[in-house]
Amino acid sequence: MPKNRLCRRHLSKKRISQLSGARSSRKQSDADNLGSETPQPSASARKLLCRSEPLVNEEDDSRSRASQKWLLVHIARLNELVSELVCPKCAGVGLKVIIDSQNLGFCSSVLLECSHCEGDDKYQKSVYTSTRLQEESRGDVAFDVNVRMVLLAHELGMGYAALKKISKVLGIPTLHLKTYQRHDRKVTVAEVDRGLASLQRSREQIRQAYADIDPEVAQLLSEDEEAVINIGVSFDGTWHKRGFTFNYGIGVCIDILTGLVIDYEILSTYCHACALKIIAKREGKLTAEEYDRWRKSHTDCAKNFEGSSKAMEQEAAKRMWARSIRCYQMRYTEMLSDGDSSAFKEVVASNPYPGYTVEKLECINPAHKRMGTALRKISTESRLGGKGLGKLKALKCKALQNFYRGAIINNSGCLDKMKTEIWAGLLHNMSTDERPLHTRCSPAWCWYRQAEESGLPPESHKHHNKNFLAHEVGKKLIPIYHRMSSDSLLKRMQHGGTQNANECLNSVIWSRCPKTVFVGKGRVEAAASMAIATFNEGATAMLSVMEKLWLQTTAITIDTCEEADAVRIAKASRFQSAHIKQRRLTMSNAKKVNRHKQEREEGPTYGAGMAI
Ligand SMILES: [Zn+2]
Ligand SMILES: [Zn+2]
Ligand SMILES: [Zn+2]
Repeated sequence: MPKNRLCRRHLSKKRISQLSGARSSRKQSDADNLGSETPQPSASARKLLCRSEPLVNEEDDSRSRASQKWLLVHIARLNELVSELVCPKCAGVGLKVIIDSQNLGFCSSVLLECSHCEGDDKYQKSVYTSTRLQEESRGDVAFDVNVRMVLLAHELGMGYAALKKISKVLGIPTLHLKTYQRHDRKVTVAEVDRGLASLQRSREQIRQAYADIDPEVAQLLSEDEEAVINIGVSFDGTWHKRGFTFNYGIGVCIDILTGLVIDYEILSTYCHACALKIIAKREGKLTAEEYDRWRKSHTDCAKNFEGSSKAMEQEAAKRMWARSIRCYQMRYTEMLSDGDSSAFKEVVASNPYPGYTVEKLECINPAHKRMGTALRKISTESRLGGKGLGKLKALKCKALQNFYRGAIINNSGCLDKMKTEIWAGLLHNMSTDERPLHTRCSPAWCWYRQAEESGLPPESHKHHNKNFLAHEVGKKLIPIYHRMSSDSLLKRMQHGGTQNANECLNSVIWSRCPKTVFVGKGRVEAAASMAIATFNEGATAMLSVMEKLWLQTTAITIDTCEEADAVRIAKASRFQSAHIKQRRLTMSNAKKVNRHKQEREEGPTYGAGMAI
């Protein structure tokens, strides 16, 4: 047996307990008060707080924190200012400003001129409204403002059309399309490089994190820095589609322990250069020979995949699993993915790590949903709902469903405890004074066990009947509980993790590269890179992109990035805090109950096959 096989099992347990460490301290306070938790530093906070790089180079600090650098000003205002100035040549009062913006993009040439002097001696002085980049190297280089505006378009998730709109609304000339494309390439390269640097750093952090929780990994890495380690990742795919002609797919792997993105793969079924040449050939502008010659020289074709979007997800997974050892000295031996994901089967079939197995982990969200559906279904079909004590009402379904989720999360890493607590969720609520069923309950949340532990006689169940289920009602739920607490299902959810991080990242990627506009593969790559850098390190990741593009940052730029990170940390912490969590649950319960009530009242209105 290979040495690492033992190590993997050991690591797996360690990791699960580490993962649950963050959660184990969160205890359910009462079965009636489901899901309340002690606030823990959120994943976002942990990631952003351990950011290794200072935000600004100390040397550059005074320069970077310089005051505001740009101004939007109406020309009439400028003229008001200069109209009272004295001409240095003729001493007449009254200078005027003439703007020339031809072919300068968002930059203009401002000419200060005397209204009195005439002829060759006329007083004139002109400046550009923008500095040029890398001024010390060459004369003919881009204007700062133009590169900045292209970066803005990227930040907004827009293209050239967005700059045209800025031009339209403000009434200023915009960039020429060719200039835009030239700067776009530069910005894309800077952003893709930033993403790669972020991935490189996250891989180092991940190796360190695994060494920190597992002495065997620490030993292994101390002997050989390049040793291959086994980790668990959450994998998900997302698409960009427009019409039927082209689409892009991105597969992303996120390390479960640290929550950092570790790798991504972009698949493209479209290449703009190829498409243009094919049209030219079809229209007779290019001969077959010329086309063949071009095809041979076309080495950087953007098209790297052919097939459906479903096949794309599988392919992205296979490619990442295939290169994990070669490129990053890691085996992704655990894969958290959707319940219906065929990517897992494909990865297993491709046997990326001979001698090692890849195990599937289940995201707990689908199981949580299934539990809710099953409870509501039986409530309707077996007429367990309605008025009266002990009935299975919609709110109780929701409470039981949430308790089920809590039992999995709070006991992650320990299958037996998980199972016990899931059953306790049902039996606790079926208990009566005559028939208390609290043996599986935990004193951490069960009032009955708490009383027993403190040696006091427990109160009557009548005082705790918020989620009470009559015996005959509860009995009907037993088959559901058997199904939803089966060993095979719970084993795959032992980690207690979700794919929420992937879903969150996917939305950030597409917010930087909207699905509604035409984009090339480069732009998708830039969007993914910046989304990953921001996801791993925070909004301040953009500062180094600006530095790379020779764009000076100001105090406002830095403050805005820091503010965005602070908001993200606060939001994540708030999201976790007990109070908010409880409020969210209550609100979502109320909404769902209303919806189900409405659906019941309206009767069946829409469903598959109902249109016929
Ligand atoms: Zn003059
Ligand atoms: Zn091509
Ligand atoms: Zn109990």
